[in-house]
Order: sequence, then C-alpha cells, then structure tokens
Amino acid sequence: MSKSYTGGCACGAIRYEISSEPLAMVDCQCRHCQQRSGTGHGSYLTFPSVKDVKVSGAAAQWDIAGDSGNVKTHCFCPTCGTPVYLSFSAMPDFFTIHAGSLDDPARYKPQVITYTVSSQVWDHVDPALPKFDRMPPI
Ligand SMILES: [Zn+2]
Ligand SMILES: [Zn+2]
Repeated sequence: MSKSYTGGCACGAIRYEISSEPLAMVDCQCRHCQQRSGTGHGSYLTFPSVKDVKVSGAAAQWDIAGDSGNVKTHCFCPTCGTPVYLSFSAMPDFFTIHAGSLDDPARYKPQVITYTVSSQVWDHVDPALPKFDRMPPI
C-alpha cells in the first residue's frame, strides 16, 4: 500500500490523512472555482470513501448548488481562509481535497480539465489533457 495523502490548511489548524488512492484528479475552470481560488481554476483530488479519511480541526462550511442542482459543501479554515476539502450531497461517500493543501502537492497529477466553457486565455493548463465544456459524462 502506498503512503497516505496528508495535508491541511496554511495555518495548520485543519489537517487530514487519507489512506486510499484518488479516484479522479481534475482541474476545474468553472466560475465558482475561479472565484474561490482567486485564479483561473481549482485543482482537486477525489477519494472514493470518507471512511478512509481522518480530519482534525474544525472547518467552516459554505454550501452552494452546482449546475446539476446538487449541493457542494466547501470546507475552509476559519482562521487562515485556506480552502481544504469539499463534499457533494449527491455522492456522500466521496471526499475531495484541494491539491494545494497537500503536504506534497507534486502527488497531484491532473487527468482532465472541466468547465472549459468559462476558461480564461491567461490560465494555462496541460494542453495534452482531455477537456470538457462542463462535467465529463459519468
Ligand atoms: Zn488554517
Ligand atoms: Zn469548478
């Protein structure tokens, strides 16, 4: 078994440890990800089961409905503001983290680009990756 994925927020109040491997690694260029990241896209690793996840520290939460109408819950540090992880009402088992929150962000290897419909010309992502206007078909 490979090494756990560990990380947390910038001030260290929130920490996580994940013992499984990610299902998907995605760069998302939707407007929500642009607004919340402060730049052109968000980068995410999604893990298959919350049972494999340990989180310490209390995150603040913000709920918003995506295009599908399903609620996304964004969890961020109330002290330093770092976006750390999120969950989806439609897929309650999944646990998604922001790539930049990893202790070793080099473990993030994006596989697809989503929401190119709102991409910005100055936001350069890997041109070799598959791209989707919105979400990929499941
Ligand atoms: Zn923090
Ligand atoms: Zn997005």
